[in-house]
Amino acid sequence: MPSSRLERVEESATIKIANAANKLKSEGIDIISFSLGEPDFDTPGHICKAAADAMYRGETHYAPSDGIPELREAIANKLVNENKLDFTPNDVLVTPGAKQAIFEIIMSVLDDNDEAILPDPSWVSYSPCIKFAGANPVWAPTDPDNGFMPYGIEELVTDKTKLIIVNSPCNPTGGVYDKEMLKTVADLAIDHDLLVISDEIYEKIIYDKKHISMGSLDGMHDRTITVNGFSKAYAMTGWRLGYVAAIPELMSGFKKIHSHSVSSATTFAQFGGVAALEGPQEPVNNMITEFKARRDILIDGLNKIGFKCKRPDGAFYAFADVSEFGNGDEVADKLLQEAHVAVTPGSGFGASSKDFIRISYATSQERIREALQRIEETLL
Ligand code: PLP
Repeated sequence: MPSSRLERVEESATIKIANAANKLKSEGIDIISFSLGEPDFDTPGHICKAAADAMYRGETHYAPSDGIPELREAIANKLVNENKLDFTPNDVLVTPGAKQAIFEIIMSVLDDNDEAILPDPSWVSYSPCIKFAGANPVWAPTDPDNGFMPYGIEELVTDKTKLIIVNSPCNPTGGVYDKEMLKTVADLAIDHDLLVISDEIYEKIIYDKKHISMGSLDGMHDRTITVNGFSKAYAMTGWRLGYVAAIPELMSGFKKIHSHSVSSATTFAQFGGVAALEGPQEPVNNMITEFKARRDILIDGLNKIGFKCKRPDGAFYAFADVSEFGNGDEVADKLLQEAHVAVTPGSGFGASSKDFIRISYATSQERIREALQRIEETLL
């Protein structure tokens, strides 16, 4: 008998589509995958070398639960210098991926029947984490014509609201919050004494805009829980390495859950993390240049076919309105079965996104061009 906690939570839409695509692949069909949330690049060599050296040096034992001191220091320096966030190494907890950080935060701050506001659409795991904690997700509408920015949040605040989730650049929309948008959320959080999770995992994958950290805004340092990680910026998804930074009063709760669940992130992977932050950043810049070129090919092609999709400012996703051809579930199914192109239906990211599909452009320009041709041949 599954627990009632488990029954509150549905299966991840991204995993469902990946399974269907894998089944076709196993039958020998050439599937172009636009469904994955991970860069197709390999981890830069100097990062791999740092982790391998650490392993051969004997760094194969348990790490301190909150992370090795070298990495916590490198992260704190990065947060001070790049993000204008005044944190020390003691304010940093290293986790096996940003996902684990988010789980620990939500389980620490939400009680039964609390409410957490999140944009519709949002990354697939926020809402299940909120439900696991016994709390309720409250979805804020977003405007596709305005970079999918949320609006009307104030009307959603009740005496049960405890948390707002901000994810900029955003998965699945690629939307980036500017200073004014961040300030709108910040003012609300201050007026109603709310916490904010600022998930900044796509911070480096941003094109013509500048990333601003929520916690750097006036009055937000103490009430913002900043999450980040190595998966996207450094192509380190399989390393499972992320972190959270927050004031000690909040951090003690995260550490408690952390020490009783995962103990620590993998020891030698953390030495790779130090090399990522302190080593050359050219590989990151090269990846961003390539992502930008792919974005432009994809968005131009999608609009030519008849999908509606503005040029996103960040991350590596296009969130396209496909209502011209059916709803998102129907179009995703048709594209997988007939064009052999795997995309994720928007319904997995929020109730108001039924007419959308998410397309991850973490695949080569050549494959993007081929996929666009297949989509055109299937739908037109
Ligand atoms: N947050 C967002 C918005 C994401 O898209 C992802 C991964 O897809 C994560 C967090 C988790 O990243 P990881 O656990 O690999 O660090």
